[in-house]
Amino acid sequence: MNDVQEASGTPMRSCLICRESKAKQDVLRLVIDDEGVIWPDLQQKAPGRGVYFCMSEECLSRTNDKRLQALKAKFSVSLPQWDDLQQRIRSALQQQLKRMLTRQRSSASIGRDAVMHRLWNNAPVMLLRAMDAGDALVRQTDDGLEKRAQAGKKSLLVSAPSRHWLGEMFDREDVAIVALDAAGPTAAIVKKLNVYCVWYGRIKVLGNR
Ligand SMILES: [Zn+2]
Repeated sequence: MNDVQEASGTPMRSCLICRESKAKQDVLRLVIDDEGVIWPDLQQKAPGRGVYFCMSEECLSRTNDKRLQALKAKFSVSLPQWDDLQQRIRSALQQQLKRMLTRQRSSASIGRDAVMHRLWNNAPVMLLRAMDAGDALVRQTDDGLEKRAQAGKKSLLVSAPSRHWLGEMFDREDVAIVALDAAGPTAAIVKKLNVYCVWYGRIKVLGNR
């Protein structure tokens, strides 16, 4: 069954597509409601029976309604719904990321100049950098991060799906980079931000095909 426990005590769940067993917090839980509709459950707390999806690029590209058919034996899943499910996952991630980032908003430095300035400060910083930020900005911020590391200053880097996306998150036009206060959010929150950004980027690419 799904509820394998690894020797280390980390709860493990196997992906419904690739069957690989991964740490529970690193996979997306999906729940199936009474109508046979599959919903993402980011908090992994929704009642009902769940299945788990690893959200790897490979699994995302291999998933289709035919594969979801396998769920029919255990749950009365209504099909087709893969297109809609992608949409539901996308908007759940979008909403959750927006919530998480809104909380950090008061500490945000937006855009290259503000961010580069911020990198000189001693305070722990978290950078959200768009995947399409551009080589020059990537080099510049990587340098800044390296200097901070050498000086023993704490910094974290999260890859945001795109400039457009990052702009949307902060109610601006396209934004390539944002710096946030990293003293507040815990390591767990930063990790979640990272994971959700990566998932969102992957599922978004799928929708653009
Ligand atoms: Zn998988």
